[in-house]
Amino acid sequence: MRYSILTFGCQMNQRDSETLAGLLASMGYIRAEKLSDADLVIVNTCCVRESAENRIYGHLGELKNLKNRKPHMVIGVCGCMAQQPGAAEKIRQRAPHVDLIFGTHNLHRLPELLRKLWEKREPVVEIWESDGDVIENLPALREDSLKAWVTIMYGCNNFCTYCIVPYVRGRERSRRPEDIEREVRELVEKGVKEVTLLGQNVNSYGKDLDPPTDFASLLERLDRVEGLLRIRYTTSHPRDFTDRLIDVIAASKKVCENFHLPVQAGSNRILERMNRGYTREYYMELVEKIRAKVPGAAITTDIIVGFPGETEEDFADTMDLVEKVRFDSAFTFVYNKRSGTPAAEMPDQVPAEVKRKRITHLVEVQNRITLEKNLAEVGTVQEVLVEGPAEKHPDKYCGRTGGNKLVFFPPLPDKVGQIVPVRITAAKMWNLEGEPLLADEGEK
Ligand code: SF4
Repeated sequence: MRYSILTFGCQMNQRDSETLAGLLASMGYIRAEKLSDADLVIVNTCCVRESAENRIYGHLGELKNLKNRKPHMVIGVCGCMAQQPGAAEKIRQRAPHVDLIFGTHNLHRLPELLRKLWEKREPVVEIWESDGDVIENLPALREDSLKAWVTIMYGCNNFCTYCIVPYVRGRERSRRPEDIEREVRELVEKGVKEVTLLGQNVNSYGKDLDPPTDFASLLERLDRVEGLLRIRYTTSHPRDFTDRLIDVIAASKKVCENFHLPVQAGSNRILERMNRGYTREYYMELVEKIRAKVPGAAITTDIIVGFPGETEEDFADTMDLVEKVRFDSAFTFVYNKRSGTPAAEMPDQVPAEVKRKRITHLVEVQNRITLEKNLAEVGTVQEVLVEGPAEKHPDKYCGRTGGNKLVFFPPLPDKVGQIVPVRITAAKMWNLEGEPLLADEGEK
């Protein structure tokens, strides 16, 4: 039997799909080369934006055509979209050809649910309302041999007013540090060089454990894992970014100097309406502290424009913050209503045309800053983890700097999985180009 998994959304979902693949492999399934070869298709969904949900229904429509030609094909839907209240009924209504629906809290039950499906020969729906315990030791088929995602916590307690995550991923539950370390050590034994620690808000890590711990202590612990070259993490909430955490990162050789700190807005009034729990002044001070203690820190962010009630003045505050902070790059979004969240009910929604103008202006300004920051790297020597041939440039190799910038350089087949110094020779908006320094050159 062959399977295919279609994954939508964030890294948490990508990591969940690796577990789904591991569970299926343990049942004897093998990965299908093409979607049309699959006997089982699992759609791991996202519901952060309603547009993502519509795209997923589009894919389910295409799968119906496939299933018409191949009636024994089993189609499963899981993930955040399935976890929303009333979602299972909606999916069954809009896509009656779906055989299996399960949520974010019972992913590990996939083998059992498939068995149920074979026995009953009728659709199976199982959504757990509550999040329950963290399940350890689930198998996983990793997508990458050099870099791996490691989930350190699940859920979020923050309730930002635009975000559906706390409703579909539950409250914060941290994995025990010894379990995380064991997973990282096992990955390193298999050749992994870089791990990205995942959580909706990694800075709250450990508060719920007994005895409690914190993210800084986890980083210190993982920093000691021999053979591991790099540690990244995502996502961190600016509010919980402590001085101790900055100090630990500054002192670490392995934790990368890339700080992804979603600011979301530069106006205090809008930050309050978003329930973000910090002010623009606090945020800018945090950036200053990081830059003072971590030279070369790359600061990236997420920004939402057109949040309900956002005036021209509020938007000007966001633009002012963007100019002052000078992010290395930013993921920019137009606010779209997400039903089930408080912001969707706010009366003063911003007209689409205004949102379009604001995002265009923001993207123009941020693109200019990104390019300027990339150009400033020309002539510097960056530590790059060599990943292998670049997908779209077969004559080149690629890798990333500690600041997470993509670099293309001439092939170095015997250096894959190693960190090499690369002199940056050119910069574009989305990548840098460079020349590796050979050992004797590097020592000059
Ligand atoms: S911190 Fe806010 S935006 Fe991030 S997952 Fe939690 S509620 Fe959503």
